[in-house]
Amino acid sequence: MLSRTDLRGGALSAADLRRALPRGGTDVDSVLATVSPVVAAIRERGAAAALEYGQRFDRVTPDTVRVPAERLVAALDAVDPTVRSALEESIRRARIVHSDQRRGTVRTDVVPGGSVTEKWIPIARVGLYVPGGNAVYPSSVVMNVVPAQEAGVGSLVVASPPQADHGGWPHPTILAACALLGVTEVWAVGGAQAVALLTYGGTDTDDAELAPVDLITGPGNIYVTAAKRLCRSIVGIDSEAGPTEIAILADDEADAVAVAADLISQAEHDVLAASVLVTDSADLAERVDTEVTRQVETTKHRDRVIAALGGPQSGIVLVDDIDHGVAVVDAYAAEHLEIQTRDAAGVAARISNAGAIFVGRYSPVSLGDYCAGSNHVLPTSGSARHSSGLSVQTFLKGIHIVDYNRAALETVSGHVVALADAEDLPAHGDAVKVRFADAAASGSVV
Ligand code: NAD
Repeated sequence: MLSRTDLRGGALSAADLRRALPRGGTDVDSVLATVSPVVAAIRERGAAAALEYGQRFDRVTPDTVRVPAERLVAALDAVDPTVRSALEESIRRARIVHSDQRRGTVRTDVVPGGSVTEKWIPIARVGLYVPGGNAVYPSSVVMNVVPAQEAGVGSLVVASPPQADHGGWPHPTILAACALLGVTEVWAVGGAQAVALLTYGGTDTDDAELAPVDLITGPGNIYVTAAKRLCRSIVGIDSEAGPTEIAILADDEADAVAVAADLISQAEHDVLAASVLVTDSADLAERVDTEVTRQVETTKHRDRVIAALGGPQSGIVLVDDIDHGVAVVDAYAAEHLEIQTRDAAGVAARISNAGAIFVGRYSPVSLGDYCAGSNHVLPTSGSARHSSGLSVQTFLKGIHIVDYNRAALETVSGHVVALADAEDLPAHGDAVKVRFADAAASGSVV
């Protein structure tokens, strides 16, 4: 069922490896033509346009974009107690991990009388996208909201697609998760129109203000990802967290049944999801392929899984040995990377590029999706080479506070003037010299 890429016996550069590996289902540029008019319409006409696109893509229009407060309360009252308990545990574990990520103020005394202090300030207002197309993701409420709250963000809004089966409001489990976390502002808008409305704001159908945000975070499909690219210059955007990817680096000791289950688990997100096995064992490759074929028959979202596993973004990659495999998965830079080898922790320690790494048989990606305490909003399409998943840091901005006294400035003033002259920006040097004009007149050196 899974295609094969045989890299054995070759010594490809990282750039050539990236070209050789299965990827390419997620061509964000291919939907920019669809998404650009949506963003333009919302910039011009705000919520009215967002509701029209909701009607077209989600086949429903809620009465207002903002979800009435009583709906949030009612959703929490009605949620299945088992689901509520699981959400509470997910929130508890996420808080343990994310509260440890808080950064303190750092003051550095550069010279006597001259200091630079780095202060971390929460972003004032953030928009958190929670997907709701093929599946609904109350877990993404947790993964967005907990780090934002731990960072101290004062104003946050959750946006999630309207659901035709639920009167045009986001799915009740999403509303329940919001209520559980104390989120009071939720908008019934999804896809590109959600990203645009969060960026530009607007006026709701009842004339209430929908205030624009300073930063948008959260995962989403190819349309959400394209809209984030288009709005990036106007609003802050987290890393690109598009259609899900799993890469598994495994040797002959790996359990083919568990490896196959993990490949299928991520393929069920989206027909564009990527599931890639990298192994030095041709025997394991055969066993996993057989096992995938067997398990796919009974999986609930069989058609979606088959489309994802059969796409150009998924397959099995054969490598010479685990060292070669480490180079391959580093070049691939998967959103989720599982290590199912001997000495899995030792192999994991050698990886530089991945959104999150899952070590050994008992750390499946599904654990990280819900209840590991780690964040599941992670960079895709190779962006793990330069970007991180959501964390408290995503919601903070650092400010340098420069505080030099007269003596500290005087000792470095000659260097400032020299560099200003070298850049032919003499007014910069003058701004220092004027502060010592009296001293210069009386013979002091500047
Ligand atoms: P979604 O909320 O991202 O997208 C649904 C919206 O897409 C709809 O509201 C609609 O407005 C829009 N849309 C649908 N068809 C369209 C069309 N033809 N033209 C324009 N807009 C259209 O929900 P989803 O579709 O279920 O996708 C969720 C995605 O999030 C999946 O790809 C999943 O893999 C991904 N995900 C990623 C991460 C991560 O961290 N990388 C985590 C969780 C989920």
